[in-house]
Amino acid sequence: MNHFQPRRGQLHAERIPLAALARDHGTPLYVYSTATLTRHWKVLGASLRGLDALVCYAVKANSNLAVLATFARLGAGFDIVSGGELFRVLKAGGRPGQVVFSGVGKRDDELAFALDAGVGTINVESAGELARLSAVARRLKVRAPIALRVNPDVDPKTHPYIATGLRESKFGVPVAEARRLYHQAVRDPHLDVRGVACHIGSQITSLRPFIDAVGRVRALATDLARAGIRLRHLDVGGGLGVTYHHEAPPSPAAYGAAITKALAGWDGEVHLEPGRVLVGNAGILLTRVLQLKKSGRKTFVVVDAAMNDLVRPAFYDAWHDIEPVVTPAKGARAVTCDVVGPVCESGDFLARNRKLVLPAEGDLLCVRTAGAYGFTMASNYNSRPRAAEVLVDGDRALLARERETYTDLIRGEALPPPARKPFRRRRG
Ligand SMILES: *Cc1c(COP(=O)(O)O)cnc(C)c1O
Repeated sequence: MNHFQPRRGQLHAERIPLAALARDHGTPLYVYSTATLTRHWKVLGASLRGLDALVCYAVKANSNLAVLATFARLGAGFDIVSGGELFRVLKAGGRPGQVVFSGVGKRDDELAFALDAGVGTINVESAGELARLSAVARRLKVRAPIALRVNPDVDPKTHPYIATGLRESKFGVPVAEARRLYHQAVRDPHLDVRGVACHIGSQITSLRPFIDAVGRVRALATDLARAGIRLRHLDVGGGLGVTYHHEAPPSPAAYGAAITKALAGWDGEVHLEPGRVLVGNAGILLTRVLQLKKSGRKTFVVVDAAMNDLVRPAFYDAWHDIEPVVTPAKGARAVTCDVVGPVCESGDFLARNRKLVLPAEGDLLCVRTAGAYGFTMASNYNSRPRAAEVLVDGDRALLARERETYTDLIRGEALPPPARKPFRRRRG
């Protein structure tokens, strides 16, 4: 369910025609829907009613301040993976006590920033990081609240780039090592052992891997309790998939019910770190057709959005539905074409061999389900200023991020000093 639907022959974002947003803000343009964000949040929350749950939205999926503030106002916690994300969460009004800091490579200054801000939990991913965090906490004269992120060694059956819970992945620590590290951590006066965490991957479309992972993590918590180490929370990570094409992931309600069942009898808190499922179809990328081009048998629709704006097709060979903003006439014939951007890479495409009613130059296209890992993965490749972002709420549109300018492109860069005169030895 999402609030990007046709009305009177034109796609709208809630009550605003996409064409009006393109006119006011230009293209390429990311558009997010408050009603969709709010709905997803509520559906997931309702499915967890049986648990003492804290839902920590995974900031890296979409870190726009207006999106973060929308979740903060709904009572969300946040899952962060960098100091920069913590900075954003604080700016957006997130409560630091409900922040979980994950990630396999945290710098000392990021750990110090997190401790200073008072984050709720730091998910530690290695023995070395545990030692380093202890040293940082000692220096700051605080106790670091920690969970260990364990690697439950389950196959999430997703794209290899986003599978994170396999034995050979760089993330987390194996269960046996985690057990040893817990015994070490509880004796460390600078560490406050709070919980255990896992996160097995992203765009997961079946319940089985989640249930297996939760089972393994829970078994570890039970073992530790027997050894006198009682954990307050169990963090099940994120990773629930969305529908881009033909996938049929479990609904948030079914997912919540499965987690609740897998944790029956667990009397501690439960933390969740969903990203994609909350924001994926709450965002679209609006782009304008620059050019139609025929090359041999192929038809190219050249648009003004490119891989620097939305890298998922190029990076993961991902599918995004593409629709004309103005509904085509009934019976209009679809042709097979590639929708490509202006970047100088053959990998720069939004869709390949796609059946579309051939648009005209100047037409607007809507690239769906671009709210997650869309703008956050955007770059300035080819010196393309990054797109603007708009957050719609009913009939109001907030320019949530201005389009970058050429001046933004070179901010912080420097020219080398003027060439020095060639050095000449003085004769003497
Ligand atoms: C990316 C990430 C998430 C969110 O994953 P989604 O697939 O977007 O739900 C949660 N936790 C951690 C540690 C992550 O790295």
